Amino acid sequence: MDNDEGSVGHSFWKPLRLRENERADFSQMLAPQNSSRTAVVGAILWAFAALAAVLELFSLLSGHIVFYLIQLMVMTFGLTLIFIAQRSRMEIPSRFGEYIVITAAIVWMYFAVRERVEVGYGLSEFVIGVLALAMLRNMRPYHATAAFLLLSAGYAGVLYHAGYLELQPWMNGLLFCIFAILLSWNSYNAKVHEFRSQQLAVRLAGNNRVLQALAMQDPLTKLPNRRYFDSVLERWQCEPDGCVEANTLILADIDRFKEYNDAHGHPEGDRCLQQVAHALSQAIRHEGAVCRLGGEEFAVILEGVTAAEAGIAAERLRREVALRTPITMSFGLAEMHPGDRDYQDIYQRADAALYRAKQAGRDRVMLDN
Ligand code: GH3
Ligand code: MG
Ligand code: MG
Repeated sequence: MDNDEGSVGHSFWKPLRLRENERADFSQMLAPQNSSRTAVVGAILWAFAALAAVLELFSLLSGHIVFYLIQLMVMTFGLTLIFIAQRSRMEIPSRFGEYIVITAAIVWMYFAVRERVEVGYGLSEFVIGVLALAMLRNMRPYHATAAFLLLSAGYAGVLYHAGYLELQPWMNGLLFCIFAILLSWNSYNAKVHEFRSQQLAVRLAGNNRVLQALAMQDPLTKLPNRRYFDSVLERWQCEPDGCVEANTLILADIDRFKEYNDAHGHPEGDRCLQQVAHALSQAIRHEGAVCRLGGEEFAVILEGVTAAEAGIAAERLRREVALRTPITMSFGLAEMHPGDRDYQDIYQRADAALYRAKQAGRDRVMLDN
């Protein structure tokens, strides 16, 4: 982690630098925020222009009705553009609307300062204008610096033009602009932090999904593993007076796999496990989920399937494995009963049936009885 990503404490004095690959996404995050902020500040200025125009009508202000009406028209046009562009998610018309509102705000500020320059050098009007502009959008550090220094120079120009040559009001204007620059940098840095947190959250969520999938998968056969098996069967429940739906479990174990390993070697045994996994999955298709529980033991989860139906499926699995792989398998199956406390009960009954299949000579299917 480089210094730029360090604590927020640094950020007041030092604008953060975006990396090349962050720029496009960062702009995309800021675009809707900027247009909303511009719309809100623009709407406040619009309301003020409307109020001023009404006051003008009653001759309560100093006779600039034409100026306020033009401001109203221009702001209305800019705000309408932003509104329509936001609705239809178009970026360029929105930008255009934003620039219209910003230009109108700067023109307003210029006239307000010029009008009131004899009263306190128009400094309060200048300060209100700078504040409104600072709130209009999240500016990049260089843009903010250039914009506020330009405004400060503009203010000095207005003072000079009006014949006020004292240094003090000009210095006050500059000082306020420097504060506005620092505040802009600070809020820009906060946005960069917000952006990086968002990106991190997206990356973490993606990694989590991958990890979760990996945690549920057996690496050798790519079948769902014991963890997946447990997570599904934990949901199986039967009330004492009956089960909501029939659920059946098939346990399958390769016959004399130790001998196969001894005869062909462990790597060939692994290949055989993959063939078995493939044969079982192909034979069961979408009727149920085939899992590798560990070693050479597999399970088939059959939800909404009775033991009688599962018996037919298990027989099909047995035939397919015997036909398509170098080994045979024994199968034991059991259906969930109303008396079962949890899935351990059905697991034990299926295991007992599998044991009987082994005892009876292997390569066969036994039902729980
Ligand atoms: P049974 O018919 O009674 O099930 O006999 P078995 O030989 O299959 O049973 P046993 O439990 O004695 O041996 C299981 C063997 O499975 C032992 C071990 O070498 C093998 N095995 C377990 N996991 C793996 C694996 O991941 N890869 C390979 N190649 N062999 C494995
Ligand atoms: Mg075995
Ligand atoms: Mg075994």
